[in-house]
Amino acid sequence: MKTEFLKINSVCETDKLRHAGEVLRRGGLCGMPTETVYGLAANALDEAAVRKIFAAKGRPQDNPLIVHIADLSQWPALVREIPPRAEALAKAFWPGPLTIILPKSGRVPDAVSCGLATVAVRMPSHPIAAAIIRAAGVPLAAPSANLSGKPSPTTAAHVLHDMDGRIDLIVDGGACSVGVESTVVTLCTERPRLLRPGGVTLEMLQSVLGEVDVDKAVLGETDAGERPASPGMKYKHYSPDADVRLVRGSVERFSAYAASFPLRETLILCFDGEESAFPNETMTIGAPSDAEAHAHCIFRALRDADARGFRTVLVHCPGERGVDLAVLNRLLRAAAFQVIDL
Ligand code: AMP
Ligand code: MG
Repeated sequence: MKTEFLKINSVCETDKLRHAGEVLRRGGLCGMPTETVYGLAANALDEAAVRKIFAAKGRPQDNPLIVHIADLSQWPALVREIPPRAEALAKAFWPGPLTIILPKSGRVPDAVSCGLATVAVRMPSHPIAAAIIRAAGVPLAAPSANLSGKPSPTTAAHVLHDMDGRIDLIVDGGACSVGVESTVVTLCTERPRLLRPGGVTLEMLQSVLGEVDVDKAVLGETDAGERPASPGMKYKHYSPDADVRLVRGSVERFSAYAASFPLRETLILCFDGEESAFPNETMTIGAPSDAEAHAHCIFRALRDADARGFRTVLVHCPGERGVDLAVLNRLLRAAAFQVIDL
């Protein structure tokens, strides 16, 4: 299959948007920008189109997809009911990087929910994502547009790298602002439960919902054979070909630890101001307390490590506050939970 690449700079480019809408309406796959990461979209109501997403990504069949909407009016048809807690979340955080899980309606194909009785829905804030959903005229199922297991794409070039020849169209709408995937919260449990941290932080959820449980898969490893509440959390994930390790401790100890790896094959991801402590190639992920900066560059840094042929990536471990909880969640999986406490 030949993959078309289309740059769309603004929602005024209606001919291009209409074209993307047509590709989706006739059952095609379209890589599209969102504020979190690039998504791989298909008509969520077209079972055959949704199945193509799994094939293109090599995605495990038990990992359900998020359905993206552009207007609140598209939500009721997808779920059994919208409880007051869900309405309050949507009012506070939509459009934006929050995914809400509710019991699903009969209209959502099994291919989307992978046999679960629930459906995950999100309204993205990226204007081009919203315009593509409107042009398609249907809700769009869209996981991240990477090959399954690889770091999520935050530029159209990343999507092209993974998906060239596998999908119909890639819309280039520039770099993603948040840089990590949406927050996933389920309202199908007695208390709201955070399944995956993201751009809407735990603290922000608590400000609307009061108490929020944090699923143990957020920072922990799920045991083999166990089915986590969010199936996507059980896979080694977000990982480059290079071996990733998270390092906790002072920059001096980190630097001494790094010296035990081959100099030229080892990339250091550190905080601003720490670069000179290492003889290695370094990339900074921002000031230690700048969680938004960490989120914005972490996937790009992991992809760059592979593009430049590094065998090992040592990352100075971020904290857990704000969006850092999401960054840590992704890094733990990229590192297959190899955390070095110094
Ligand atoms: P991705 O779109 O690739 O970022 O992955 C979507 C994430 O949402 C995965 O971690 C899924 O397991 C999770 N997810 C989607 N739908 C559901 C659902 N109905 N219940 C629980 N988790 C879900
Ligand atoms: Mg993904």
